Amino acid sequence: MLSCLLEETLRRLYPPTCVLCGASGCGGLDLCAGCLADLPTDSRSCSRCALPLPAEGSPAALCGACQRRPPPFAVCHAAFRYEDPLPALVGGAKFRARLNLLRLLGQCSAITLRERNAQIPELLLPVPLHRSRLRERGYNQAQEVARILGRAFAIPVDARSCVRIRATVPQTGLEQKERRRNLRGAFRVLNPLDGVHVAIVDDVVTTGSTVSELARVLLKSGAGRVDVWAVARTP
Ligand SMILES: [Zn+2]
Ligand SMILES: [Zn+2]
Repeated sequence: MLSCLLEETLRRLYPPTCVLCGASGCGGLDLCAGCLADLPTDSRSCSRCALPLPAEGSPAALCGACQRRPPPFAVCHAAFRYEDPLPALVGGAKFRARLNLLRLLGQCSAITLRERNAQIPELLLPVPLHRSRLRERGYNQAQEVARILGRAFAIPVDARSCVRIRATVPQTGLEQKERRRNLRGAFRVLNPLDGVHVAIVDDVVTTGSTVSELARVLLKSGAGRVDVWAVARTP
């Protein structure tokens, strides 16, 4: 109640303003209607891993990789393509401690997930950061996005049951095989997930190796189904 009142007062004092062009925000978002509509989305993507597919063809198609070797997660929903202005929005959030940008990205992702009628999981699990990274950065960006999504869909967020026990080297520049090796044994689940439908939350899914490894670990720990909810997916 108090926090609602506080939010309302803040909204009046600082009306939503588009972070990209400075115009008035729409629907309580710090984005105007035009900039929101211009954010890059995929007209057609793999129904399993969200990789963009050529514009023509059946809407429920699978990409070649998922046909050859389906990923451990049931479905990946990525709200946006990781193209301009997403790197600036996510990058700003990552490196300049701009938590308001993460909140905005979470709100936009909730809108997209609703539009796509995404199946609602029972639990949101943000991709954990190793504690040394968490200390260095001060917060986990996936957890911030999960918090917004959890509130939007009234789903609990569990940021404690799964930990990153190995500080992995950054995945950028690694081959797919090296990425998998780099991640092996990186996560540990502390509580059993008896049949629970979980959605892993991440900011950007690049090759999918991190969320795949985490999905494998969660399924091994008893999760009934694992989905992935990401803000953006690299094409
Ligand atoms: Zn704008
Ligand atoms: Zn795919």
